[in-house]
Amino acid sequence: MSDLTLAQWQHKAAHLTLPSQAFIDGTYRDAVNGATFDCINPANGQLLTRVASCDAADAELAVKAARAAFDDKRWCGLSPKQRKLIMQRFAELMRLNLVELALLESLDMGKPIGDAMGYDAPAAANCIAWNAEAIDKIYDQVAPVEESALALVTREALGVVAAIVPWNFPLVMACWKLGPALATGNSVILKPSEKSPLTALRIAGLAKEAGIPDGVFNVLPGFGHTVGEALAMHMDVDCITFTGSTKIGKHLVQCSGKSNLKRAFMECGGKSPNIVLADAPDLDAAARSAVGAIFYNQGEVCTAASRLLVQNSIKPQFMERLLAHAREWISANPLDPTTRIGAMVDHIQMEQVLNYIAIGQQEGAKLLLGGKRTQPEEGGYYIEPTIFDDVTPTMRIFREEIFGPVLAVTGFDTLEEAIALGNDTDYGLAAAIWTADLNQAVKGSRALRAGTVFVNNWDGGDMTMPFGGFKQSGNGRDKSLHALEKYTELKSTWIQLE
Ligand code: NAD
Ligand code: MN
Repeated sequence: MSDLTLAQWQHKAAHLTLPSQAFIDGTYRDAVNGATFDCINPANGQLLTRVASCDAADAELAVKAARAAFDDKRWCGLSPKQRKLIMQRFAELMRLNLVELALLESLDMGKPIGDAMGYDAPAAANCIAWNAEAIDKIYDQVAPVEESALALVTREALGVVAAIVPWNFPLVMACWKLGPALATGNSVILKPSEKSPLTALRIAGLAKEAGIPDGVFNVLPGFGHTVGEALAMHMDVDCITFTGSTKIGKHLVQCSGKSNLKRAFMECGGKSPNIVLADAPDLDAAARSAVGAIFYNQGEVCTAASRLLVQNSIKPQFMERLLAHAREWISANPLDPTTRIGAMVDHIQMEQVLNYIAIGQQEGAKLLLGGKRTQPEEGGYYIEPTIFDDVTPTMRIFREEIFGPVLAVTGFDTLEEAIALGNDTDYGLAAAIWTADLNQAVKGSRALRAGTVFVNNWDGGDMTMPFGGFKQSGNGRDKSLHALEKYTELKSTWIQLE
């Protein structure tokens, strides 16, 4: 399927049915207030469809449905084996609809169809399957206490979980929450970004078809300040699990404090350093990786390696290779299967990134590549892959998350200096170090304050590895068995025996 041509993908897109209604208590329906928002294709600026714009009234209905489903145990009361089978069927239905899901994702947020087919859609299905598999393989504990007691440490579902997710990997971010939250028996209300609601709406129907009971999985499209805020402030929501910006993450923690102290897990932004030492095992591979690490998904990646730190002794040669690889990344139509960089998610994001490029120039960084909007005649939101050299730690383009295809390069002399530069940030999501010296690799990976450290690669890992941030990149972890802990309460039961 991924060997379709541009024309074939365009034909499929033209004949695709786009989901547009909210999904509450097992039924697709309009927003209570009847409002909609425009869902725009960033590849050409044209309207795809109008999507239900939910607000507090819809949140109320969804929370009631989710609570009722949790209280009567129609999901958490099933045997683990039964829940597993239903979630496996859900994953299987996602796989059977892979092409449609990938196409919806690409149309909605501008990512290359090759990436949506190669990563997003299959990774999302795999995440659901992986969590399904875990359900009947996790044991609770018996505490080591005296003969006269039986002491149990068990885990129980939280109840109603609200998942608020961003637009850069809409389906994958949703499934990183949905997988463990459903696996542990919770009811879930998913609030996709207003910039990318389509795949979340589509999988709600697949979940129902798979046998997930009504009320257990609800999807409320709409804006953050309306329906998102209503969920975050709701007194009957037990957990808010979020991926998005640090600014909104901080706000949601406050919402928890102002309402019912709901559990609050925040996966937020990043400004990740990619450190290349002179003895990297393969400098060309490091340069190729560094380019992919910032330009993949238009640079709209929380772990984007947006700060490249290069040892000065090899910097001239390394920059040559970096530029050679970077020139292979050309922004183009997301539905062309050969495209590596698609369109920015919307006009606002494009303007923000262009603004940061202007700031970089004003701050005196050296523009080596790109810097402009391209193909404006197409009506799409395309930006050239952009590289700045001579970036210093006081510059805003060194400190702030740009969330676009803009790389900031800084030189250093010693490993100590590189670690200090790498850690000179409010964020702590990811970091990398390239070296052939095991001692430098271990020293560096221990010293870097980040949730994930890559050695001689960028973005290695799979469902088995926890994902999340130190510092203002957030708290809690997605993926791996650790993610399941977020969606359960620990219960201690002390049984006194005779
Ligand atoms: P955002 O914070 O603007 O929005 C994220 C979600 O929050 C959206 O669904 C939005 O509608 C909702 N929201 C906004 N205001 C709200 C409010 N007042 N109450 C409730 N919900 C509200 O982020 P974005 O622009 O969609 O995504 C980009 C950000 O996400 C970047 O900062 C990126 O680093 C981060 N991100 C982090 C990870 C991670 O795992 N750490 C992964 C992907 C993206
Ligand atoms: Mn969109």
